[in-house]
Amino acid sequence: MQDLQVDEINATDENAAMVLLVNDQAMIVEAVRRGLASQENIDFHFCADPHQAIAQAIRIKPTVILQDLVMPGLDGLTLVREYRSNALTRDIPIIVLSTEEDPLVRSAAFAAGANDYLVKLPDNIELVARIRYHSRSYMTLLQRDEAYRALRVSQQQLLDTNLVLQRLMNSDGLTGLSNRRHFDEYLELEWRRAIREQTQMSLMMIDVDYFKAYNDNFGHLDGDEALRQVAKAIRSSCSRPSDLPARYGGEEFALVLPNTSPGGARLLAEKLRQTVAGMNIPHIVPHEGSNLTVSIGLATLVPQVGSHSRQLIQSADQGLYAAKNNGRNQVVVG
Ligand code: GH3
Ligand code: MG
Ligand code: MG
Repeated sequence: MQDLQVDEINATDENAAMVLLVNDQAMIVEAVRRGLASQENIDFHFCADPHQAIAQAIRIKPTVILQDLVMPGLDGLTLVREYRSNALTRDIPIIVLSTEEDPLVRSAAFAAGANDYLVKLPDNIELVARIRYHSRSYMTLLQRDEAYRALRVSQQQLLDTNLVLQRLMNSDGLTGLSNRRHFDEYLELEWRRAIREQTQMSLMMIDVDYFKAYNDNFGHLDGDEALRQVAKAIRSSCSRPSDLPARYGGEEFALVLPNTSPGGARLLAEKLRQTVAGMNIPHIVPHEGSNLTVSIGLATLVPQVGSHSRQLIQSADQGLYAAKNNGRNQVVVG
């Protein structure tokens, strides 16, 4: 438990450093170890086998690598390039330890990707100062990356939430179809498009027959369920992404059919009427043993410039009115 707390403190302490010394000479390792031992918050690890260096760096996640240039079997600069090309070690600061102050070697070290260059064995004050400096800037980099990552996550969550809100705002609570507000917006949008493109636009107004009697006989809860069934039939009666089924209000529904001819709309309407009747939802009106039905008013227009979408609704409404007057359970073009 205590260890855990210490770990947590270290993990959040930006002054903490974790050093990985990659060096095969026991004397150097010992000297650096001794030099860092008295330093607070500096963890020391070493790796004597250059072939294990990358794996060890990935495992212990140092905040600074002290890399010896001359090692048996693997050139130190090659190793520096390997750290740089591995995604897990790419950003870890590397301080190269060299035996000589040769400008050519220095520049080769920096070209390979080293961040700093010290001649062995550096003065301890300088070594510690460089370790702390590079370690701190690496921690800052990690913190910045983490902050960006968190920002991206919360931005995505915000986008998702907005989508859900948008969907809720546009949909009818009982049936899940579009609500009246969204219907109005959508009809207007498609109306204007139809004016621009001079295309046909169809609209169905669908009203449940004798629904007041249904409620009176079976109660409002069964009434609600019947409305959900009718809504389901309406939703599955249209297939194009541009078709929009909506609850217009109460037991009245609407179906916007952009780019749809009178013949196509008529076919859809007749199929929908039959589907609802075929669901065999029992009703006692107009007579005992009858099924719940819908009446449908239909209209198709190529809207003129300056005209209002109200025209299409009025026309479909006239059809609906006629369908009711003619005995219900039928489709009439307004
Ligand atoms: P018609 O065949 O002429 O359309 O007759 P109707 O009885 O269906 O028409 P009316 O307009 O007289 O009655 C509609 C009924 O729909 C009245 C109302 O209580 C009911 N209704 C409206 N919204 C809901 C709802 O959300 N749930 C339930 N259960 N009933 C509703
Ligand atoms: Mg009705
Ligand atoms: Mg009605």
